[in-house]
Amino acid sequence: MPLQKAAQRDERPMSVNPFVGAANPVGDMTGAPPRHRMPDGPMAPSTAYQLVHDELMLDGNARLNLATFVTTWMEREAGVLMAECRDKNMIDKDEYPRTAELERRCVSILADLWHAPDPSAVVGCSTTGSSEACMLAGMAMKRRWRRRTPARDARPNLVMGVNVQVCWDKFCTFWEVEPRQVPMEGERFHIDPEAAVALCDENTIGVVGVLGSTFDGSYEPVADLCAALDGLQERTGLDIPVHVDGASGAMVAPFLDEDLVWDFRLPRVASVNTSGHKYGLVYPGVGWALWRNADALPEELVFRVNYLGGEMPTFALNFSRPGAQVVAQYYTFLRLGREGYRAVQQAARDVATGLAARIESLGDFRLLTRGDQLPVFAFTTAPEVKAYDVFDVSRRMREHGWLVPAYTFPANRQDLSVLRVVCRNGFSEDLADVFAEDLTRLLPDLRRQPHPLTEDRNAATGFHH
Ligand SMILES: *Cc1c(COP(=O)(O)O)cnc(C)c1O
Repeated sequence: MPLQKAAQRDERPMSVNPFVGAANPVGDMTGAPPRHRMPDGPMAPSTAYQLVHDELMLDGNARLNLATFVTTWMEREAGVLMAECRDKNMIDKDEYPRTAELERRCVSILADLWHAPDPSAVVGCSTTGSSEACMLAGMAMKRRWRRRTPARDARPNLVMGVNVQVCWDKFCTFWEVEPRQVPMEGERFHIDPEAAVALCDENTIGVVGVLGSTFDGSYEPVADLCAALDGLQERTGLDIPVHVDGASGAMVAPFLDEDLVWDFRLPRVASVNTSGHKYGLVYPGVGWALWRNADALPEELVFRVNYLGGEMPTFALNFSRPGAQVVAQYYTFLRLGREGYRAVQQAARDVATGLAARIESLGDFRLLTRGDQLPVFAFTTAPEVKAYDVFDVSRRMREHGWLVPAYTFPANRQDLSVLRVVCRNGFSEDLADVFAEDLTRLLPDLRRQPHPLTEDRNAATGFHH
């Protein structure tokens, strides 16, 4: 071992990363950090962890949240993979070519699942969710319309049911497209093909079909919509594309409703989106947008990013994004396969239809849907129920920890208020039993009310997207 000479004394302190070690445990006990300003100095990681952890303790229990469509449970292995990938940026396709490859495989899997006649012609990408995917699909439709419309002062419009998710209102506002919405009528709570066609003209960039509606879980009649637009084309020559917003249903119908024709089997369907983080069974946020072929996605919208190494075509609103969710999507495809997805979605549908029937049998409620399309159903109080309303039910069920949204329908059924239950993987038959028992136990109390009591309707769970 070589003999070392003592180093010359250096007064400079070592450089210490403030993240390293418990800097001053006593200080952490006494110095309460300000709430809305950055603290002056660091604190120990264990202290910071405890503070943030405690702050979050009073968040709702995600598994009892029957309002959301978004995945609240994944297996441990998926969590491990996601943790392994949390440092990978999806946009760095050249640095992380295998992550990019898994994204490409997911697009191929979805193209196959959605019956693209020529899967090799399909172009598609991952997104942060369906909202971004819908923006991209809307932009492609708008650009295609602009190409075929020489009049510079023409104003584009988009036709849809009034029941569309709020992302379509956003799209129309952000990209200055006039929304033309088919209202609800009577017991029809989503689009009507003929009414949609009646709203179309030469400036219609496309028609949106929703699979299925967030308001009641019903599938819109996409094939009938396409047929009605075929008729329009025969009469007028107008060739209007359809985009299917399959945020939930595009990951349910391929497994449970194989005979339902709603996807690329219909030549008029130009593009489809889904939320990987809904019935795709991945934690938030991942979505997918696929176009039938390159014609459906104008080339000038695709950016060729080359300053990170390779040259990669991208179509996205944002740039940096985690790769973990895409990896988790591929993992889930691989892990479950078609049979596995079918089993998971069938279990959710069984829970939904079973719970819907049980709620109907209580006698106080009228079902609008039965959970046999999306595993989602909406119900309202029976006409003879005057003592309480859906907002009371939502508020009282919240006392038992259940989040069940109550909300009023849009035009022309503003008179109708409903409760909605979303059954997801993880909401088991057993939990559904507890839910039904809690609701049953509440009824005598509710029936004794002199009249509906929820003055502040926002106090009930209004969230329903
Ligand atoms: C949830 C949903 C959206 C928005 O999807 P995100 O993934 O939450 O952005 C759009 N359309 C429909 C029909 C939905 O259910």
